[in-house]
Amino acid sequence: MTAEELEDLARRHLWTHFSRLGAYRDRPMPIFTRGDGPRLYDVRGRVFLDGLASLFVVQAGHGRADLAETARRQAAELAYYPIWSAAHPAAVELAAKLAELAPGDLNRVFFTTGGSEAVESAWKLARAYFKQVGQPERTKVVARNLAYHGTTMGALSVTGLPAIKEQFEPLVPGAVHVANTNRFRSAFSPEVTVDDERFAAACAAAVEDAIVAEGPETVAAVFLEPVQNTGGCFPPPPGYFAKVREICDRYGVLLVSDEVICGFGRLGAWFGAQRYGYLPDMMTFAKGVTSGYAPLGGVVCRDFLAEPFLRGDASYAHGITFGGHPVSCAVALANIEVLESEGILSHVESSATAFEERLQGLRDLPVVGDVRGAGFFWAVELVKDAGHPEARFTPEERSALIRGQVAPRLFEAGLICRADERVDPVVQLSPVLTCGEAELDEIETMLRKVLSGVVV
Ligand code: PLP
Repeated sequence: MTAEELEDLARRHLWTHFSRLGAYRDRPMPIFTRGDGPRLYDVRGRVFLDGLASLFVVQAGHGRADLAETARRQAAELAYYPIWSAAHPAAVELAAKLAELAPGDLNRVFFTTGGSEAVESAWKLARAYFKQVGQPERTKVVARNLAYHGTTMGALSVTGLPAIKEQFEPLVPGAVHVANTNRFRSAFSPEVTVDDERFAAACAAAVEDAIVAEGPETVAAVFLEPVQNTGGCFPPPPGYFAKVREICDRYGVLLVSDEVICGFGRLGAWFGAQRYGYLPDMMTFAKGVTSGYAPLGGVVCRDFLAEPFLRGDASYAHGITFGGHPVSCAVALANIEVLESEGILSHVESSATAFEERLQGLRDLPVVGDVRGAGFFWAVELVKDAGHPEARFTPEERSALIRGQVAPRLFEAGLICRADERVDPVVQLSPVLTCGEAELDEIETMLRKVLSGVVV
């Protein structure tokens, strides 16, 4: 098909996700046809640098024949059998591999097809577990303001982003939201925010206060990302996770680390929990586990969570037809092997400072107010006036800035990244993990060119 034919059919038949369909009435939708390493090619022959790993997914890069061949081989051998009261070698081997990579006794893996189902499954498991151990009142969850945890009704309730929830209310009751670790626009006073110890204590106390306010005996779990994505890559202050872990232990609440973005090398470690030195009770994962060569997600659980389900006729009455699909599990194993054998995690760890330096260098531009993140996961927050960051854009101004200027110009320049105006405007970078100095330079050059030309 020609580019024009594809664009016309897309306009008439494809319901793209999180999109204003009306935006494509007069201009073509981007249609990507091919990927190679950190590059993407579209139907009109344009080439792009994938500075977002295509939505935080393609860790090992595009166009890998080894991962494609693994998928072909598994499909030819056993395309499908469910993991409902049965198993296949790829699921077994992957579960064992994840248990080996995960910290502590996170040894039991429940597979899904993606991240929302993983979060949904973790909340359901928390409820089912507490019923098994005689605490049926524990049903609620605590998460953080703005945090994105997915779109199924349970995961959407865990999500703390009102703009994507309102259309679907009423949601699942029992999810409450507390201050996140945004230091640039902190929920706490400037004296608290500048001090690592006090800021960590204040953010952790917000979790504790919510547990106490809800009634500790009614709270099942706290869901946190190692580095919070939405709002723009909020890293935790030092000591934050140790304090939250203590609080969860004090009140008998489960700690869930949502590793859907931060897992599989994004922060230079297998999991964000390892990078920040805490042991969660569950880790949800998806995205980078397969580098996108097949869909997969899941929950890794500590031994004690599975324990009540190992006895008598107990069962966790939950499953998904394609959860733990053989092709996806085989691809995940091969992807993990690539991340290991090519030293990709240590590459991220050793290149993160170079990446940060390039992005921090953009602070000389008047529109750049803050640069924050970790590993290969960074955000540049745009402001009206760098000298007065408290002067915030109105929603209309944010939209005009991001949709009218920044996003189309970055695309035009050939950089795929996320220019987000749902909260204060940010440009997020999450490049393919194999990017080297040359690609990091390109990212900086394209950002500088576009951001120096915007008018606020
Ligand atoms: N959790 C986090 C932290 C995410 O970033 C996402 C998606 O971006 C999800 C859950 C939902 O994952 P999925 O889109 O695979 O359902």
